[in-house]
This record gives sequence, C-alpha cells and structure tokens, in this order.
Amino acid sequence: MDAIERLHHDAIVCDLHVDTLQRLAKGESLAGNGGHLDLPRMRRGGLDLQFFAVWVDPVYLPRREGERDRSYERANALIDAFEREMQTHSAAVQPARTAAEARRIVAAGGIAAALGIEGGHAIENDLGKLEALYRRGVRYMGLTWNNSLDWADAAKEETLHGTRHGGLTGFGEQVVRRMNDLGMIVDLSHAAESTFWHVLRVSRAPVMASHSDAWALTPHFRNLKDDQIRALAAHGGIIGINFYCAFLDTTFMQRQMQAEEHLKDQVEAIETAHLYDFPTQCTLARRLLDAEMGPTPVPATRIADHVLHMVQLVGPDHVALGSDFDGTAAVPDDMPDVEHLPLVTRLLHQRGLDDNAIRKILGENVLRFFERVCG
Ligand SMILES: [Zn+2]
Repeated sequence: MDAIERLHHDAIVCDLHVDTLQRLAKGESLAGNGGHLDLPRMRRGGLDLQFFAVWVDPVYLPRREGERDRSYERANALIDAFEREMQTHSAAVQPARTAAEARRIVAAGGIAAALGIEGGHAIENDLGKLEALYRRGVRYMGLTWNNSLDWADAAKEETLHGTRHGGLTGFGEQVVRRMNDLGMIVDLSHAAESTFWHVLRVSRAPVMASHSDAWALTPHFRNLKDDQIRALAAHGGIIGINFYCAFLDTTFMQRQMQAEEHLKDQVEAIETAHLYDFPTQCTLARRLLDAEMGPTPVPATRIADHVLHMVQLVGPDHVALGSDFDGTAAVPDDMPDVEHLPLVTRLLHQRGLDDNAIRKILGENVLRFFERVCG
C-alpha cells in the first residue's frame, strides 16, 4: 500500500447517494450483488458511511383517476429492505441516525449506513408521513426527483416545460420548515432553480445537493450553476459530486440526449416491460444507448475536474461525494464500482490538493454537516 492508499483508508470516506436499495428490495444482498456496491467492495474501497437513497419511482403515483397513491408504501418497502440487510449483516454494517453514531460505528471497525428520501412525493402531501419517515431513520429528503410535485418544481420539468409553482407553494414552505424542526437535511439535487432559491430563503438550516456536478463544466439541468454553488456554500451547505458520465462530461451528455431522443420508443418499451424493476431497466436501456452512442469514453479525471472547479469557487469545505452508484449504468470506465474509490484520492492528490483538503472532501465535510443539521 502506498502513501495515497494509506491516506484513503485512514480517512473517513462518505458517499451521500447510491440507489442500491432498488436492488436490495428485489431480494439482492449487500453481501454481494451484480451492481456497483456491496459490503466486500465497500470494505476494499475504504467506504465508511453510505447514505442509501429511498428513491420512489413515480410509477407508484396514481396513474389513472381513482387509483391509490402507493408512494409512501414504496418508501417504506425500501426501508424494510434496508433494515433486513442491516440485521442480516449486523457484524459488518450498522445503521446511523447521527454523525456521532456514524463515527462510533466506524471507530469500531464497521461501516455506517444512513437513509435519505429521493422524491418528496413519498410523503403524499402529508407532514405526518414525513415525520413517520424521520422516525424510521430517514435523515434527508430530496424535495423532488425529476417530476414536479403539487408543492415543488423539479429541474427536469421546469427546464423542459416551464415552472409550475415558481418554486415552493405554501405547503412546500411548511415541508422545509418541518424538516428544519425535525433535524432532517433538505437535499436540492433534482430541484428546479426556482425551488433552489426559494428553499434558500426559507430554510433555517444549511442545505445540500447530494448528487450534482458543476454546470459550468457540463451544462446539464441536473448540475449546479456557479451562483448556486456559491450560495450553498455561503449557507454552510455541501455538494456531493455525481459519477454519472452525462453530468461529468459534455460530449457524453450531448450524445446521450441525442440517443435518448432517437431511441425514445425503445427505451419506453423497456420501462413498460420492467415497470417495477429499475435495475433491469437501467441495464437494458444502457445497452441500447451505448450501441447508438458508440465509444464515448469518460475518464475518472472528470470527477477531479468537477471537484477542483467547486474547490476553486468556494474552497474545500463544501465539496463531498455523491456517486449515484446503482442509479446509473454509465460511470467512468476506471471508476466501475465502489471498490475503485481510492482512485478519487489519487486524482485529487495529483491535482495538488493537500491531505487535509482531501480528507474533508472524502468525508469530513459530510460528518460536520450531518452533525450540524441532524444533531
Ligand atoms: Zn437522483
């Protein structure tokens, strides 16, 4: 092991966002699976604290008049899968509801696991359900996924079809305030710009973007513009760098968008055929898109590019990791899974960041922020 690997394994490494619960809810195991993340590879990759996203696919929303909303039920099913895996592998991984708990678990040689909702439709417009999810251990909520809600605009919908509410409605403001009261982190990845600025006016606590990159390098609606990065930092927030190639690299993004447009019907057919099976949708759609796009290599150095851009804008105290592993099949060729995380440390070192800055980005920023917002 060389000095860089020692630094990586000695540092506390945190990841703000993976979609592995989609696999665990299908019956796959944290002991080993065909996705990006399992316990043996987390261990080898030096990962210490993982936030698992409770992403509720909008297919659980009522799709026809009179149909029941199953979003909250789905969120709970994903948390059931999380708890089952925590019990099964309790010697290796334990749930953490506070930063202090996470530090204790890691100090004792374990891996800490935490929960965050992705998509505020999970609460079905009901603050009681928000509180119930908090009681089950959820410590952050991404206000929206790609779909705008009755109470908040999403980046994708606002970009493609214009704003619905101009940010938050009155109920949306209540959600943010209740999250502040509970000690639940507001996550603005996927939120529309209107929602982003509205939340910064309303929230009493610092907020984060769990898995978003820099728009100045890759102008995707999921990425953050420089003024947003500065504002998040000024409010004490953090940003997790996303490893999805379409957010990291502009050429990949453009080819991906062209391919998605060209293959719209085929991709939709895959989604319909595997309606409740995101991992399979993801794999099959990727195969189709890759064939259409042709070789479009994105090296892991792009991850360092986005980190360095943010560090140059706001310093090293506000940048973190939010890989999106298992949420996308398109990650850099040399960052194919969690086991390869030590490469991030090596790349940041090569770019001239000192050990202290690297430790902050790998995990100390997340722990400081987690402690400040959730206690
Ligand atoms: Zn996401």
